[in-house]
Amino acid sequence: MTNDAAKKEGQTLGKRCPVCQKPADKAHTPFCSARCADVDLHRWLSGRYVIPGKPLSPERDEE
Ligand SMILES: [Zn+2]
Repeated sequence: MTNDAAKKEGQTLGKRCPVCQKPADKAHTPFCSARCADVDLHRWLSGRYVIPGKPLSPERDEE
C-alpha cells in the first residue's frame, strides 16, 4: 500500500472493477459499486461455492 495512492480521494489504487471494468470505488473495493460486488458474488457462488447461510455483512463498515 502506498501513501500516494491513499492520498487520492475518489480514486482507488488503480484497480478496476472485475465486473464492468470501471474504476473501483474504495468503499466497494475491488468493485465499483455494491451492485457489481453482488453480481460477482453471485457468479462466484453459483460457479464454485455454496456458502452455508452466511449473510453478506462487511465488518469494515466504520470509516
Ligand atoms: Zn462495476
